[in-house]
Amino acid sequence: MEKGYLHIVTFGCQMNVYDSQRMAQLLSGYQMVKDIKKADLILINTCSVREKAEQKAYSLLGRLRGLKRNKPYVVIGMGGCVAQQEGEALLKRFPHLDMVFGTQALHRLPELVSLASQEGKRICDVGLSHNGDMAPSCVSPLLPNVKSFVTIMQGCNNFCSYCIVPYVRGGEVSRKSEVIIEEVTELVQQGVKEITLLGQNVNSYGKNIPGELSFSQLLEEIGKIPGLKRIRFTTSHPKDLSNELMECFARIDTLCEHIHLPVQAGSDRILRLMNRGYTRQQYMDKVQRLREILPQVSITSDVIVGFPGEEDSDFQDTLDLVKKMEFDNIFSFKYSDRPHTKACSFRDKVPAAIKDQRLTILQQVQREITLKKNKRLEGHIEEVLVEGRSKKDVFELTGRTRSNRVVNFTGNYELVGKLVKVKIEKAYVNSLRGIIVGN
Ligand code: SF4
Repeated sequence: MEKGYLHIVTFGCQMNVYDSQRMAQLLSGYQMVKDIKKADLILINTCSVREKAEQKAYSLLGRLRGLKRNKPYVVIGMGGCVAQQEGEALLKRFPHLDMVFGTQALHRLPELVSLASQEGKRICDVGLSHNGDMAPSCVSPLLPNVKSFVTIMQGCNNFCSYCIVPYVRGGEVSRKSEVIIEEVTELVQQGVKEITLLGQNVNSYGKNIPGELSFSQLLEEIGKIPGLKRIRFTTSHPKDLSNELMECFARIDTLCEHIHLPVQAGSDRILRLMNRGYTRQQYMDKVQRLREILPQVSITSDVIVGFPGEEDSDFQDTLDLVKKMEFDNIFSFKYSDRPHTKACSFRDKVPAAIKDQRLTILQQVQREITLKKNKRLEGHIEEVLVEGRSKKDVFELTGRTRSNRVVNFTGNYELVGKLVKVKIEKAYVNSLRGIIVGN
């Protein structure tokens, strides 16, 4: 029975995209609508890792005040990291907000929505359990018959000094390997070709659970599932990237040649202040080892500029590392204070103008590297998993290479969900163009 219309707004990372999928599935009595004004239930899935995403969520919530005034029956809920971090304070600050639900309250969502919509209660559910109370994951593919995320663990024990995740997502909790394998098998039976295993730090999967598989062993087992064409995972902490895991790239055919390995800074002093647990040299050695094992591996990274106390020489070290590592791409950010974190109290905050300047320089350097590396693919034939129509041109198809590059090409819509061979004709910074040369 349909209960009304649901609109979900998602901010932040892949974990949040995945959580929004789970929300939609848990509330399957509601019909999803694209137009927020038509919804009876509006959920905002927030992210507090970056200040910008948090501000956007607040601004959206503020704008919904008028909508609630005109349609008082609409239920508005805020979930995710900002909800976890602020809790009851959100209900006080935004009188038109009906529900606040934390990062571990997802599986209680139907109950919470029913209390808010039928009994008119204002609810706050932000309890954090550190003992494995994790909701079952959903098994509906992200793109029907193409690819899906599967959460293998939640939370983080690392306490990098700038990061809010351990405070809002709690400590590391791994899901049982047999449940994960069963879920992936079910997704593959539904036609899914590519699985991305998700966790804040997948490399520490299974640690501290007697008898549980390690992450490499889990990959090996998933690699045996018949019909699964591609495996990806994110995110890997460099300090926990073991030799055993690196060797999986050579051993498991379906494991795609791409790893996201956030370095964050190229200066040892800043890495120490960030509490990252590795040195610049240790990071570079791991990248070198990865490239020895699999020369064509694509490596992407995250970099923060303007961390408190970052001198020009530290920034130069970061630029130097980025040039030496020749990452396939990076996600780069300006440091911003996040509540509760240690770095919040650090002095020597870098002025905004300098952060802007450093970010611009870094991005320009990386753009050139990315373009150079993409250009090397011109003339090559790549295996592409066709994901759907291209966003820019509905007459074109789009897909990804095993190295996670976007490729656009002309083709029949029936190819969606299939692996095709595409000859790369032209490379740009953010995508490749090609022609199909075979299935
Ligand atoms: S490893 Fe560090 S940056 Fe990543 S989620 Fe954990 S605390 Fe945050």
